[in-house]
This record gives sequence, C-alpha cells and structure tokens, in this order.
Amino acid sequence: MTRRDGGLNPAVFPALAALILHPVEGAILFDTGYDPAFFEATRTFPEILYRWMTPVDLGPGEAVADQLPDFGIRPEEVRAVIVSHFHGDHIAGLKRFPNARIFCARAGLAQVRKPGRFARVRQGVLADLAPADIDARAAFFEDHPRLPLGPDLSPFEDGADLLGDGSLMAVQLPGHCPGHWGLVVRQEDGRTRFLIADAAWSSGAVRDNAPPPRLTTALLGETGPWRDTLTALHRLWNRNPELLLTPSHCGEVEVEAPRGRG
Ligand SMILES: [Zn+2]
Repeated sequence: MTRRDGGLNPAVFPALAALILHPVEGAILFDTGYDPAFFEATRTFPEILYRWMTPVDLGPGEAVADQLPDFGIRPEEVRAVIVSHFHGDHIAGLKRFPNARIFCARAGLAQVRKPGRFARVRQGVLADLAPADIDARAAFFEDHPRLPLGPDLSPFEDGADLLGDGSLMAVQLPGHCPGHWGLVVRQEDGRTRFLIADAAWSSGAVRDNAPPPRLTTALLGETGPWRDTLTALHRLWNRNPELLLTPSHCGEVEVEAPRGRG
C-alpha cells in the first residue's frame, strides 16, 4: 500500500531518526523513531490496531535514546527534537528527552488533541506518546521567521529558520498528514540535506514520482497535496543531483547511515 505501482507483499521499512550536531546548540534530533514506549502505548484496543497494521521489530538497544551513548551523548543532553509530524513511528521516543525543546507544527500537535481514540489511531496518532509538558516545551514552526531557501531548493520557496542562523530550515511538506514538515540542513561539509520525513517512503518513489495508492493517501492525509509535494520533490531531485534527499523510511538511506550498537 506504499506505492501505486507496487504489489501486495509485505515490505520491510526502517524507521529512521537523524542526529544533528550543531556547533553552538549541540545535539539535536530530527524525529525519535520507535521506542519501547510504543509497545506500552499500543497494549490495548483500539491502539493495538496500530501494532497489527504495522508490526514493529525493535531490538534491545535499538531505540534512539539507547544508541546515543555510542555517540558520546546522554539523552538528557539533547537540546532540541524537531518533530516532522506526530505519527507514532516518529515520536515514540519523545519522553526520553526531557530537556529538549520540541520544535513542531502547531497543526501537528493539534492532531494529538483531537477527540476520539479510534479516530486518532486510524490516522497513526498515539496521544500517550506526547510528553505531559509538551505545551511548555513546544516551539512552533509557524511562529518562526520565514526565509527564502535559495535557488538550489526550487521549487520549494521558503522555510522557517529554527535557530536564527539559517542552518536548520523547517519546510512544509503538505499531504502526508496535517502538520507534516521536513527539514533542510546546511551541513558543515558544504552539502545540503533535505530530511523529507514521510513525503516519500523511499528514495525510489522520489526518483520515479510514484505516490502511494489513493486508498493510503486519503486515509492518512490528502491525496492532492500529497502528490503535489512528491512532484515538487521529484523536480527538485532532477534539478539538483548534489542535494541529499532523505526519506524517514528508505532502506537505501539506512545502508549509508552510521549506527550505534543496535
Ligand atoms: Zn513514518
């Protein structure tokens, strides 16, 4: 159900998060991936449906908070978590980073507050995964200054400058679900990486401009904006081969990413 031209065989998806080491701000995460908290949050009905739809395999030490010590970082030292959207596979570890500011979309956080457990689960949202003090720690993308991204990211025009130095720009990627954003990272090596979260579920889908079937896109988000966003990414990828485009669930990305002990 992840590619319009795909078959009906089960597929394996990595659930990735990114560790960003900012020269001034220190350790910052883009999403958290899965965490043992996911199993706690999906123990009972209706939340258990989430686990049945997308069975999760998380080995000992594989949660991001458990991998960070391998990089010399304690979870309490993480200064910020940038949340692409509030689906369980992106925020399951959020409670493990108690001192982090939480950058997110106001529209994304609103999903956690929507009434109806069943309706929330159907849309991939597990409210228990949000820390109790999230309102006090939230810094909304929508409230940050919008700056032009530059011609290398066309057709995407502007982004929210999260740290005030242009190094991390949150970019709205509509369609996957309400409040779904990606992150443009200007790396120290001069390259630019665009973390596109779930705007595409694989690098191949961007290369081929192959969206999921309408059944999937309409269930989670909005088909029209989803396809427009994917088409924009496809054009960007064609125009700028130097750009590193990183989907959250791409097996090709997982091969390149450095890993902790997990
Ligand atoms: Zn996801």
